[in-house]
Amino acid sequence: MAETTLSGIVDGRLCSGCGLCSTLISDNKVSMAMSKEGFLRPQIHKKLTVEENALVAGTCPGNYLEHEPGNVPYDSLWGPVVTVRTGFALDEEVRYQGSSGGAISALLIHLLESGAVDYVAHVAASETDPLRNEVRLSRSRADVLKGAGSRYAPSAPLENLTALLDLPGKFAFVGKPCDVAGLRNLARVDKRVSEKTAFCIAFFCAGVPSQHGTLEVLKKLGVEREQLAKFSYRGEGWPGKAKAVTHDGRVSEMDYATSWGTILNRHLQFRCKICPDGTGEFADIACADAWYGKDGYPEFDEQAGRSLILARTRRGEELIADVLQSQAIAVEACDLAQVALMQPYQKERKSALLARLAGVWLKAGALPRFRNMGLAACSRRMGLVTNLRNFAGSYRRTQKRVINTRFRN
Ligand SMILES: Cc1cc2nc3c(=O)[nH]c(=O)nc-3n(C[C@H](O)[C@H](O)[C@H](O)COP(=O)(O)OP(=O)(O)OC[C@H]3O[C@@H](n4cnc5c(N)ncnc54)[C@H](O)[C@@H]3O)c2cc1C
Repeated sequence: MAETTLSGIVDGRLCSGCGLCSTLISDNKVSMAMSKEGFLRPQIHKKLTVEENALVAGTCPGNYLEHEPGNVPYDSLWGPVVTVRTGFALDEEVRYQGSSGGAISALLIHLLESGAVDYVAHVAASETDPLRNEVRLSRSRADVLKGAGSRYAPSAPLENLTALLDLPGKFAFVGKPCDVAGLRNLARVDKRVSEKTAFCIAFFCAGVPSQHGTLEVLKKLGVEREQLAKFSYRGEGWPGKAKAVTHDGRVSEMDYATSWGTILNRHLQFRCKICPDGTGEFADIACADAWYGKDGYPEFDEQAGRSLILARTRRGEELIADVLQSQAIAVEACDLAQVALMQPYQKERKSALLARLAGVWLKAGALPRFRNMGLAACSRRMGLVTNLRNFAGSYRRTQKRVINTRFRN
């Protein structure tokens, strides 16, 4: 029988670029590199064995997501939810530097300062190339703040994870939903993951834009890549501006509605458009923008930051309770009906997913495996016409070559 292979996953455009496969497969057979489309993708240097391909197929978060039965209520739209709050870091600098209300950074700083973890593994701008993302091991408040703020460009935090798992001490991991899901999948085959990873924190994710999106923002800002000393997408307020600083100190900025809303969101990778987990369902805690809105749509006026904070596991809720006791964040109660108003895109994408997957399946004949994720229940909430529209749109956009997710080795 034909089996799913790593090259099939990549050719089928199911790769999210997390880097897990390069960690799973030894002997330098796989490494991550920027593709000409501007996404991080595995480069396969040597043919994988049948067993290696099977390992990738069962752990790659682009290809396989499954919730195991748990003791936390599962909402078909929003995943496992223990508690929902809005809030912000009480440390003014953390709130200001953070993308939203600085909740993730506040949680990380608390974990480090309370000794609950030895370090944090998260993503920050590369020190040698301000447009590239790299994994940083942070051990102090100052380190954590260097990684604060969203980076709307490819990142592969699961690359070289073996080195991390061999380090002494426990860590907290921060990543996109697919990064966190990949780490959970890896835990099924490598027991060091559960031993070493004290907490997994994710943020809501509408999708990863290609590096070309960033280059387009830079071009609109009138800054040459060679002149660039620093580049950030968010932070310094909420939502915060995309900001380029040149070597000679010139600062160019673009508001969030323009950078994300008219440029970056037009460069999303295919896998993100059929993602059943935009909200970090596999994390202990997931954070997002707690947008204020009008007429059902978020507004992006600059103001003091506010995060949405979901505890997804009991362990995550214990951490939030601890952080509240230490007065690192202030919170207010919230419910899932309000979350739907703050995050209409996430609601729409998950609701439309089953119809979109049906379109992909009909055109391509193969699908990623998403199990126990409430997709049928989400689809039933949508009207027939909307489902049909999404099915037709997805059928039209799916390329025939998506069929190649399964290859004989
Ligand atoms: C590609 C992308 C899409 C997003 N889509 C949504 C969305 O649809 N809805 C929504 O509400 N929010 C979205 N966000 C998240 C949002 O921008 C905030 O990051 C989130 O609200 C957390 O804010 P904070 O102030 O608590 O985090 P902060 O305190 O600013 O901390 C952010 C953390 O995220 C990590 N991080 C930043 N960029 C990346 C990256 N590319 N890969 C891995 N880790 C990273 C940093 O290392 C840091 O630790 C997205 C972020 C990204 C990067």
